[in-house]
Amino acid sequence: MKKKNIFYKIINKKIPSKIIYQDKEITAFEDINPQSPIHILIVPNKRIKSINEINEKNKNIIGNMISASVKIAKKLKFAKNGYRIVINCNKHGRQTVQHLHIHLLGGKMLGKKFN
Ligand code: AMP
Repeated sequence: MKKKNIFYKIINKKIPSKIIYQDKEITAFEDINPQSPIHILIVPNKRIKSINEINEKNKNIIGNMISASVKIAKKLKFAKNGYRIVINCNKHGRQTVQHLHIHLLGGKMLGKKFN
C-alpha cells in the first residue's frame, strides 16, 4: 500500500490533532509548530500535492479553502484585526508536506517581510 502522508492521517483521524473545522471537502486543524498565536492549516480532504496541481477541473477547491479560512477567522474573532494566508509550493517555497495546504496566521501584528 502507498504510504499515506501526515495530513491524510489527520483528516482520517488516524493520529490526534486539534481539528477546528471539517466538511466533506475540507479539514482545518491547528499547526503543531505555530508561527503565530493563531496558526491553522486548511487542507483538501482529497490529496492534491501542491498548488502546481491546480487546474481548470479542480480550481474550485482553492476558493472553498479560502472561504473556509475566512469563516474560521470570523468565528474565532480575529478577522477584523486581520491575518495572513500563505501557500508554500515545492522546494523554493519551502513546502515540507506534499499535500496542498493554506497557512492561516493571525493573533498578533505579523512581520513585514515574506522572505
Ligand atoms: P509547509 O512547510 O508549508 O509544507 O507546512 C507544513 C506545516 O505542517 C508546518 O507548519 C508544520 O508545522 C505542520 N505540521 C507537520 N506535521 C503536523 C502535524 N502532525 N499536525 C499539525 N501540523 C503539522
